[in-house]
Amino acid sequence: MINDTDLKHLRRCVQLAKEALEVGDEPFGSILVSADGEVLAEDHNHVSGGDHTQHPEFALARWAANNLPKEERAKATVYTSGEHCPMCAAAHGWVGLGRIVYASSSKQLVQWLSELGVPASRVRNLPIQDVIRDTVVDGPVPELAEEVRELHRQFHTKKH
Ligand SMILES: [Zn+2]
Repeated sequence: MINDTDLKHLRRCVQLAKEALEVGDEPFGSILVSADGEVLAEDHNHVSGGDHTQHPEFALARWAANNLPKEERAKATVYTSGEHCPMCAAAHGWVGLGRIVYASSSKQLVQWLSELGVPASRVRNLPIQDVIRDTVVDGPVPELAEEVRELHRQFHTKKH
């Protein structure tokens, strides 16, 4: 279930995705929120430098591993504009983070990119639940997913 607080955090993720787009990166943004609702860390995609592992969810998992005790990691939520890829889902699982809420799903992204004529990525687009166990996952949110779709459209029609 997605409530108003979740929507507020997801909107921030979409904003971060926009900021990524503005600096030439793929439009993905994510934030890490503690059990009591504090935004602990934010990041957006940084793959334009050539390192295609620089995803925001991976950065947040590393930040959590370095800055939060295990019990707090388990209660923290990761909000993200687009569902975790398998690498980021695995990182989320390895460091023991809690719930995940996404604005748009990997399945939606695959469809959007296919419609834009973008070749499929080498890494398979698996649902988070196919990569990690025992994780509460919520999403997508239709109205925000449409905004994310527009950011991807802009990224792929501008640059490629
Ligand atoms: Zn990823």
